[in-house]
Amino acid sequence: MDKIKVAILGATGMVGQRYVRLLSNHPWFDISVLSASSSSVGKKYGEIVKWIIEDEIPENVKDITILPAEVEEMKKEGVELIFSALPSEVAYDIELKMAEAGFTVVSDTSAHRMDPDVPLVIPEVNSDHIIAIEEQKRKRKGIIVTGPNCTTIGLAISLKPIHDEFGIKRVLVSTMQALSGAGYFGVPSMAILDNLIPYIKNEEEKVTKEILKILGKYENGFKFANIKIGASCHRVCVLDGHTEVVFLETIKKATPEDIKYCMKNFKGEPQLLSLPTAPLQPIIIREEPDRPQPRIDRLSGKPERAKGMAIVVGRIREELALDNGIKYILLSHNTIRGAAGNAILIAELLKAKNII
Ligand code: NAP
Repeated sequence: MDKIKVAILGATGMVGQRYVRLLSNHPWFDISVLSASSSSVGKKYGEIVKWIIEDEIPENVKDITILPAEVEEMKKEGVELIFSALPSEVAYDIELKMAEAGFTVVSDTSAHRMDPDVPLVIPEVNSDHIIAIEEQKRKRKGIIVTGPNCTTIGLAISLKPIHDEFGIKRVLVSTMQALSGAGYFGVPSMAILDNLIPYIKNEEEKVTKEILKILGKYENGFKFANIKIGASCHRVCVLDGHTEVVFLETIKKATPEDIKYCMKNFKGEPQLLSLPTAPLQPIIIREEPDRPQPRIDRLSGKPERAKGMAIVVGRIREELALDNGIKYILLSHNTIRGAAGNAILIAELLKAKNII
């Protein structure tokens, strides 16, 4: 099978580096274009990138020259699929231009997430929402499919099996989010070392809106889920991996054992289709009272290609202060499952459905 040529926009950033790492030996996709801001254009990737993730920079990308995020550059290189990890301020126009020119754009940015014809997808949770692209096809040659905010993704995966089985009435979430979630220049070391910042701009609004779109239905338009949700988001001095403390009320009574059972057995379309980046088990349950922990658990997931794609849940307990109350802690890798890995899984799903 000929591999599909892909471009990564924002390739030098925190999410961009994850794309480079995950796509450098992908069985279906081949990196053809790496793009970044005008200050990086024209330079070799290996020389300009401030590489900070676990492994070395893959050899096959070191000598790629950074190109501008322009339609003509993508066409010249024969690109079909574009992964966007741009800052959201510049993403809106660039992603739209690419889709209008006929490309398939899979985006991690917030720019188009809430558009009425754009699916906001976690492949295990709402792969059926991809049907919304039919609306886009009436307006433009290409399509945009988005992945949710890094905090939303872990939360939505954990809620989906509970919502399907017992119904969820109310959710409260408090987060402890990693530094890489703010991008390479996100939080100065003098502000975060020996400290915690109890505010992340726009994060609580994003999480609460996105969850309702994802857990809702698509029936001639998005019908948002009827769940009451509140969030408090905080930045902590952890490199990668967002931790979230979740309190919820179910409609039907569920014991902690019921919750464990439905989470452990949860699978979605990526698992049924055996997509290359699909974790065998999307939710891993830890029984130890002091897990999950970001440093130990963030790269959970099997097989090797799906490391960082499973979320880890622990301390599932009854919450007596709520009606039918349950509480637990979850951890998800913000730049893998929370961004690049989720987007690659979306692209694999689009390919498996012959959309690309
Ligand atoms: P980042 O580390 O700041 O990287 C930004 C990237 O965009 C860099 O490659 C930068 O290139 C490039 N860029 C900046 N301005 C540009 C312009 N005007 N035109 C073209 N390229 C430009 O940010 P990040 O954390 O990777 O986040 C990228 C996107 O993903 C954001 O929209 C963010 O909200 C979203 N997201 C992030 C996470 C996460 O955990 N970090 C999770 C989910 C979603 P230079 O190196 O040349 O400046």
